[in-house]
Amino acid sequence: LMQVYRPLNFIGFVYREIRQGLTDIEEMFKLLDQKPEIEDRPGAKPLAVTGPVIRFNDVHFAYDAERPILKGVSFEIPAGHTVAVVGPSGAGKSTLSRLLYRFYDVGSGAITIDGQDLRDVTQESLRARIGMVPQDTVLFNDSIAYNIRYGRPDANDEEVRRAADMAQIGPFIATLPKGYDSQVGERGLKLSGGEKQRVAIARTILKAPPILILDEATSALDTKTEQDIQSALDVVSANRTTLVIAHRLSTVVNANEIIVLKDGQIAERGTHFDLLGRQGLYAQMWSRQREATEAEERARRVAADA
Ligand code: ATP
Repeated sequence: LMQVYRPLNFIGFVYREIRQGLTDIEEMFKLLDQKPEIEDRPGAKPLAVTGPVIRFNDVHFAYDAERPILKGVSFEIPAGHTVAVVGPSGAGKSTLSRLLYRFYDVGSGAITIDGQDLRDVTQESLRARIGMVPQDTVLFNDSIAYNIRYGRPDANDEEVRRAADMAQIGPFIATLPKGYDSQVGERGLKLSGGEKQRVAIARTILKAPPILILDEATSALDTKTEQDIQSALDVVSANRTTLVIAHRLSTVVNANEIIVLKDGQIAERGTHFDLLGRQGLYAQMWSRQREATEAEERARRVAADA
Protein backbone atom coordinates (compact mmCIF):
# COMPACT_ATOMS: atom_id res chain seq x y z
CA LEU A 1 0.00 0.00 0.00
CA MET A 2 2.85 2.38 0.83
CA GLN A 3 4.02 2.01 -2.76
CA VAL A 4 0.72 3.35 -3.97
CA TYR A 5 0.40 5.90 -1.20
CA ARG A 6 3.75 7.63 -1.61
CA PRO A 7 3.40 8.70 -5.23
CA LEU A 8 -0.22 9.64 -4.58
CA ASN A 9 0.81 11.80 -1.72
CA PHE A 10 3.49 13.42 -3.79
CA ILE A 11 1.32 14.02 -6.84
CA GLY A 12 -1.40 15.37 -4.58
CA PHE A 13 0.96 17.97 -3.15
CA VAL A 14 2.43 18.99 -6.44
CA TYR A 15 -0.68 19.34 -8.51
CA ARG A 16 -3.42 20.48 -6.26
CA GLU A 17 -4.15 21.88 -2.89
CA ILE A 18 -4.74 19.68 0.10
CA ARG A 19 -8.28 20.92 0.61
CA GLN A 20 -9.51 18.81 -2.30
CA GLY A 21 -8.10 15.81 -0.51
CA LEU A 22 -10.56 12.99 -0.67
CA THR A 23 -12.03 13.39 -4.12
CA ASP A 24 -8.64 13.68 -5.75
CA ILE A 25 -7.32 10.62 -4.03
CA GLU A 26 -10.40 8.66 -5.01
CA GLU A 27 -10.02 9.79 -8.58
CA MET A 28 -6.35 8.90 -8.65
CA PHE A 29 -7.10 5.48 -7.22
CA LYS A 30 -9.53 4.99 -10.09
CA LEU A 31 -6.85 6.02 -12.55
CA LEU A 32 -4.31 3.75 -10.91
CA ASP A 33 -6.79 0.91 -11.05
CA GLN A 34 -7.24 1.37 -14.75
CA LYS A 35 -3.69 2.20 -15.59
CA PRO A 36 -1.27 -0.62 -14.95
CA GLU A 37 2.21 -0.24 -16.33
CA ILE A 38 1.94 1.95 -19.41
CA GLU A 39 5.16 3.87 -19.80
CA ASP A 40 6.54 6.17 -22.47
CA ARG A 41 8.96 4.47 -24.82
CA PRO A 42 12.53 5.75 -24.73
CA GLY A 43 12.59 8.52 -27.32
CA ALA A 44 8.77 8.87 -27.41
CA LYS A 45 7.80 12.03 -29.26
CA PRO A 46 4.99 14.46 -28.61
CA LEU A 47 1.90 13.69 -30.67
CA ALA A 48 1.71 15.98 -33.71
CA VAL A 49 -1.91 16.62 -34.62
CA THR A 50 -2.82 17.78 -38.09
CA GLY A 51 -6.24 16.20 -38.81
CA PRO A 52 -6.65 14.45 -36.50
CA VAL A 53 -7.58 11.16 -38.18
CA ILE A 54 -7.95 8.23 -35.79
CA ARG A 55 -7.46 4.68 -37.00
CA PHE A 56 -8.04 1.38 -35.22
CA ASN A 57 -6.24 -1.23 -37.27
CA ASP A 58 -7.04 -4.90 -36.53
CA VAL A 59 -7.02 -4.24 -32.79
CA HIS A 60 -6.97 -7.24 -30.48
CA PHE A 61 -7.07 -6.81 -26.73
CA ALA A 62 -7.58 -8.83 -23.53
CA TYR A 63 -7.51 -7.71 -19.89
CA ASP A 64 -6.69 -11.31 -18.95
CA ALA A 65 -4.86 -13.52 -21.41
CA GLU A 66 -7.54 -16.25 -21.27
CA ARG A 67 -10.41 -13.96 -22.20
CA PRO A 68 -10.11 -11.97 -25.44
CA ILE A 69 -12.27 -8.84 -25.41
CA LEU A 70 -11.53 -7.20 -28.79
CA LYS A 71 -11.00 -9.58 -31.68
CA GLY A 72 -9.77 -7.67 -34.69
CA VAL A 73 -11.49 -4.29 -34.71
CA SER A 74 -10.74 -1.89 -37.59
CA PHE A 75 -12.32 1.48 -38.27
CA GLU A 76 -11.38 5.05 -39.03
CA ILE A 77 -12.66 8.36 -37.74
CA PRO A 78 -11.89 10.99 -40.39
CA ALA A 79 -10.89 14.45 -39.14
CA GLY A 80 -13.83 16.28 -37.61
CA HIS A 81 -16.17 13.28 -37.87
CA THR A 82 -18.11 11.47 -35.19
CA VAL A 83 -18.17 7.70 -34.92
CA ALA A 84 -20.57 6.16 -32.43
CA VAL A 85 -20.13 2.67 -31.03
CA VAL A 86 -23.18 0.79 -29.84
CA GLY A 87 -23.78 -2.83 -28.89
CA PRO A 88 -24.78 -5.17 -26.09
CA SER A 89 -23.41 -4.71 -22.59
CA GLY A 90 -19.93 -6.21 -22.25
CA ALA A 91 -19.25 -6.11 -26.01
CA GLY A 92 -16.06 -4.09 -25.43
CA LYS A 93 -17.30 -0.57 -26.25
CA SER A 94 -15.74 1.30 -23.32
CA THR A 95 -12.59 -0.74 -23.82
CA LEU A 96 -12.15 1.06 -27.17
CA SER A 97 -12.20 4.42 -25.39
CA ARG A 98 -9.75 3.21 -22.73
CA LEU A 99 -7.34 2.06 -25.45
CA LEU A 100 -7.61 5.38 -27.30
CA TYR A 101 -6.79 7.25 -24.06
CA ARG A 102 -4.03 4.68 -23.59
CA PHE A 103 -4.99 3.37 -20.21
CA TYR A 104 -3.86 0.11 -21.82
CA ASP A 105 -1.87 -0.88 -24.88
CA VAL A 106 -3.38 -3.01 -27.63
CA GLY A 107 -2.48 -6.72 -27.62
CA SER A 108 -1.88 -6.69 -31.37
CA GLY A 109 -2.76 -4.40 -34.25
CA ALA A 110 -2.42 -0.65 -33.75
CA ILE A 111 -4.21 2.58 -32.99
CA THR A 112 -2.88 5.63 -34.79
CA ILE A 113 -3.60 9.33 -34.74
CA ASP A 114 -2.48 11.08 -37.93
CA GLY A 115 -0.33 8.04 -38.66
CA GLN A 116 1.46 8.01 -35.30
CA ASP A 117 1.15 4.83 -33.27
CA LEU A 118 -0.08 5.68 -29.76
CA ARG A 119 2.78 3.60 -28.34
CA ASP A 120 5.34 5.92 -29.97
CA VAL A 121 4.07 9.20 -28.53
CA THR A 122 4.25 10.62 -25.02
CA GLN A 123 1.23 9.98 -22.85
CA GLU A 124 1.22 13.57 -21.70
CA SER A 125 0.94 14.94 -25.24
CA LEU A 126 -1.73 12.36 -26.13
CA ARG A 127 -3.91 13.24 -23.16
CA ALA A 128 -3.45 16.96 -23.69
CA ARG A 129 -5.08 16.51 -27.11
CA ILE A 130 -8.02 14.43 -25.91
CA GLY A 131 -11.07 15.65 -24.07
CA MET A 132 -12.73 12.85 -22.17
CA VAL A 133 -16.32 13.09 -20.98
CA PRO A 134 -16.61 9.96 -18.86
CA GLN A 135 -19.70 8.00 -17.80
CA ASP A 136 -19.49 9.34 -14.30
CA THR A 137 -17.67 12.57 -13.61
CA VAL A 138 -16.06 12.96 -10.22
CA LEU A 139 -16.43 16.54 -9.01
CA PHE A 140 -13.86 18.15 -6.75
CA ASN A 141 -14.92 19.42 -3.35
CA ASP A 142 -14.73 23.00 -4.47
CA SER A 143 -16.84 25.62 -6.21
CA ILE A 144 -18.68 24.89 -9.42
CA ALA A 145 -16.50 27.56 -11.12
CA TYR A 146 -13.36 25.69 -10.04
CA ASN A 147 -14.78 22.45 -11.38
CA ILE A 148 -15.42 23.97 -14.80
CA ARG A 149 -12.17 25.95 -14.91
CA TYR A 150 -10.26 22.72 -14.34
CA GLY A 151 -10.47 22.26 -18.12
CA ARG A 152 -8.20 25.29 -18.57
CA PRO A 153 -6.95 26.81 -15.32
CA ASP A 154 -6.09 30.19 -16.87
CA ALA A 155 -9.64 30.76 -18.19
CA ASN A 156 -11.24 33.96 -16.90
CA ASP A 157 -14.71 34.21 -15.31
CA GLU A 158 -16.34 35.25 -18.57
CA GLU A 159 -14.90 32.23 -20.39
CA VAL A 160 -16.07 29.91 -17.62
CA ARG A 161 -19.55 31.40 -17.87
CA ARG A 162 -19.63 31.08 -21.65
CA ALA A 163 -18.54 27.43 -21.49
CA ALA A 164 -21.26 26.74 -18.91
CA ASP A 165 -23.86 28.35 -21.16
CA MET A 166 -22.73 26.37 -24.18
CA ALA A 167 -22.88 23.19 -22.10
CA GLN A 168 -26.48 24.07 -21.08
CA ILE A 169 -25.60 24.14 -17.39
CA GLY A 170 -25.55 27.97 -17.08
CA PRO A 171 -29.28 28.41 -16.36
CA PHE A 172 -29.10 25.73 -13.64
CA ILE A 173 -26.13 27.49 -11.98
CA ALA A 174 -28.07 30.76 -12.07
CA THR A 175 -30.77 29.17 -9.85
CA LEU A 176 -28.24 28.34 -7.10
CA PRO A 177 -28.14 30.88 -4.24
CA LYS A 178 -24.35 31.18 -4.49
CA GLY A 179 -24.21 30.75 -8.27
CA TYR A 180 -20.74 29.86 -9.52
CA ASP A 181 -19.37 29.96 -5.96
CA SER A 182 -21.64 27.10 -4.85
CA GLN A 183 -19.69 24.25 -3.33
CA VAL A 184 -20.19 20.91 -5.06
CA GLY A 185 -18.83 17.40 -4.67
CA GLU A 186 -19.20 14.93 -1.82
CA ARG A 187 -19.17 17.63 0.83
CA GLY A 188 -21.26 20.16 -1.09
CA LEU A 189 -24.23 20.22 -3.35
CA LYS A 190 -24.89 16.85 -4.95
CA LEU A 191 -25.53 17.20 -8.65
CA SER A 192 -27.55 14.72 -10.70
CA GLY A 193 -25.84 12.51 -13.28
CA GLY A 194 -27.03 14.75 -16.13
CA GLU A 195 -25.82 17.92 -14.36
CA LYS A 196 -22.42 16.39 -13.64
CA GLN A 197 -22.11 15.36 -17.25
CA ARG A 198 -22.81 18.93 -18.36
CA VAL A 199 -20.12 20.21 -15.97
CA ALA A 200 -17.74 17.75 -17.67
CA ILE A 201 -18.85 19.05 -21.06
CA ALA A 202 -18.25 22.66 -19.96
CA ARG A 203 -14.75 21.65 -18.79
CA THR A 204 -14.10 20.07 -22.17
CA ILE A 205 -15.39 23.13 -24.05
CA LEU A 206 -12.80 25.19 -22.12
CA LYS A 207 -10.05 22.68 -22.83
CA ALA A 208 -10.95 22.76 -26.56
CA PRO A 209 -9.13 19.54 -27.51
CA PRO A 210 -8.99 18.36 -31.16
CA ILE A 211 -10.10 14.85 -30.13
CA LEU A 212 -13.08 13.98 -28.02
CA ILE A 213 -14.10 10.77 -26.29
CA LEU A 214 -17.57 10.64 -24.94
CA ASP A 215 -18.55 7.68 -22.83
CA GLU A 216 -22.25 8.09 -22.19
CA ALA A 217 -23.88 7.05 -18.96
CA THR A 218 -26.26 4.11 -19.27
CA SER A 219 -28.79 5.68 -16.93
CA ALA A 220 -32.05 6.80 -18.49
CA LEU A 221 -32.59 10.53 -18.70
CA ASP A 222 -35.84 12.39 -19.15
CA THR A 223 -36.46 13.83 -22.60
CA LYS A 224 -35.68 17.43 -21.65
CA THR A 225 -32.35 16.54 -20.00
CA GLU A 226 -31.47 14.33 -22.91
CA GLN A 227 -32.15 17.18 -25.35
CA ASP A 228 -30.11 19.63 -23.25
CA ILE A 229 -27.18 17.24 -23.11
CA GLN A 230 -27.48 16.55 -26.81
CA SER A 231 -27.25 20.22 -27.72
CA ALA A 232 -24.27 20.61 -25.36
CA LEU A 233 -22.60 17.68 -27.10
CA ASP A 234 -23.33 19.11 -30.53
CA VAL A 235 -21.41 22.23 -29.52
CA VAL A 236 -18.44 20.37 -28.11
CA SER A 237 -18.14 17.78 -30.88
CA ALA A 238 -18.52 20.16 -33.84
CA ASN A 239 -15.35 19.95 -35.97
CA ARG A 240 -13.67 17.61 -33.51
CA THR A 241 -12.75 14.02 -34.20
CA THR A 242 -15.11 12.28 -31.84
CA LEU A 243 -15.55 8.73 -30.54
CA VAL A 244 -18.87 8.25 -28.80
CA ILE A 245 -19.62 5.20 -26.73
CA ALA A 246 -23.34 5.53 -27.08
CA HIS A 247 -26.28 4.32 -25.11
CA ARG A 248 -28.84 6.82 -26.28
CA LEU A 249 -30.61 7.10 -29.58
CA SER A 250 -30.21 10.87 -29.78
CA THR A 251 -26.41 10.81 -29.80
CA VAL A 252 -26.24 8.17 -32.47
CA VAL A 253 -28.65 9.49 -35.08
CA ASN A 254 -26.34 12.24 -36.29
CA ALA A 255 -23.06 10.29 -36.15
CA ASN A 256 -21.20 10.03 -39.46
CA GLU A 257 -20.84 6.31 -38.85
CA ILE A 258 -22.24 3.87 -36.31
CA ILE A 259 -20.35 0.75 -35.38
CA VAL A 260 -22.25 -2.10 -33.82
CA LEU A 261 -19.88 -4.09 -31.65
CA LYS A 262 -20.81 -7.59 -30.57
CA ASP A 263 -18.53 -9.99 -28.70
CA GLY A 264 -15.51 -7.86 -29.52
CA GLN A 265 -16.13 -7.74 -33.27
CA ILE A 266 -17.86 -5.34 -35.61
CA ALA A 267 -21.22 -6.88 -36.46
CA GLU A 268 -22.69 -4.01 -38.51
CA ARG A 269 -21.64 -0.53 -39.56
CA GLY A 270 -23.24 2.39 -41.38
CA THR A 271 -25.36 5.47 -40.76
CA HIS A 272 -28.49 5.36 -38.63
CA PHE A 273 -30.71 5.08 -41.67
CA ASP A 274 -28.53 2.45 -43.39
CA LEU A 275 -28.66 0.33 -40.30
CA LEU A 276 -32.37 0.74 -39.66
CA GLY A 277 -32.95 -0.36 -43.25
CA ARG A 278 -30.90 -3.48 -42.68
CA GLN A 279 -33.28 -4.70 -39.97
CA GLY A 280 -30.46 -6.40 -38.09
CA LEU A 281 -29.05 -6.05 -34.59
CA TYR A 282 -29.05 -2.24 -34.65
CA ALA A 283 -32.67 -2.02 -35.77
CA GLN A 284 -33.68 -4.45 -33.00
CA MET A 285 -31.72 -2.54 -30.36
CA TRP A 286 -33.33 0.75 -31.22
CA SER A 287 -36.85 -0.49 -31.46
CA ARG A 288 -36.38 -1.96 -27.97
CA GLN A 289 -34.92 1.29 -26.69
CA ARG A 290 -37.72 3.31 -28.23
CA GLU A 291 -40.34 1.14 -26.54
CA ALA A 292 -38.53 1.44 -23.21
CA THR A 293 -38.25 5.24 -23.54
CA GLU A 294 -41.91 5.58 -24.44
CA ALA A 295 -42.94 3.43 -21.49
CA GLU A 296 -40.81 5.55 -19.19
CA GLU A 297 -42.27 8.78 -20.53
CA ARG A 298 -45.78 7.42 -19.99
CA ALA A 299 -44.90 6.45 -16.41
CA ARG A 300 -43.46 9.91 -15.78
CA ARG A 301 -46.58 11.60 -17.13
CA VAL A 302 -48.82 9.43 -14.96
CA ALA A 303 -46.66 10.24 -11.91
CA ALA A 304 -46.76 13.96 -12.75
CA ASP A 305 -50.56 13.93 -13.12
CA ALA A 306 -51.08 12.07 -9.82
P1 ATP B 1 -21.42 -1.59 -21.14
O1 ATP B 1 -22.36 -1.25 -22.27
O2 ATP B 1 -22.10 -2.47 -20.14
O3 ATP B 1 -20.73 -0.41 -20.53
P2 ATP B 1 -19.08 -2.32 -22.75
O4 ATP B 1 -19.41 -2.85 -24.09
O5 ATP B 1 -18.63 -0.91 -22.66
O6 ATP B 1 -20.28 -2.59 -21.76
P3 ATP B 1 -16.48 -2.96 -21.62
O7 ATP B 1 -16.54 -2.06 -20.43
O8 ATP B 1 -15.63 -2.57 -22.76
O9 ATP B 1 -17.96 -3.29 -22.14
O10 ATP B 1 -16.04 -4.39 -21.10
C1 ATP B 1 -15.87 -5.50 -21.96
C2 ATP B 1 -15.57 -6.72 -21.12
O11 ATP B 1 -14.31 -6.54 -20.48
C3 ATP B 1 -16.57 -6.99 -20.03
O12 ATP B 1 -16.87 -8.37 -20.02
C4 ATP B 1 -15.90 -6.59 -18.76
O13 ATP B 1 -16.27 -7.43 -17.71
C5 ATP B 1 -14.43 -6.78 -19.08
N1 ATP B 1 -13.60 -5.81 -18.35
C6 ATP B 1 -13.77 -4.47 -18.35
N2 ATP B 1 -12.81 -3.87 -17.60
C7 ATP B 1 -12.03 -4.85 -17.12
C8 ATP B 1 -10.88 -4.89 -16.26
N3 ATP B 1 -10.35 -3.76 -15.77
N4 ATP B 1 -10.35 -6.11 -15.97
C9 ATP B 1 -10.88 -7.23 -16.47
N5 ATP B 1 -11.98 -7.27 -17.28
C10 ATP B 1 -12.55 -6.11 -17.60
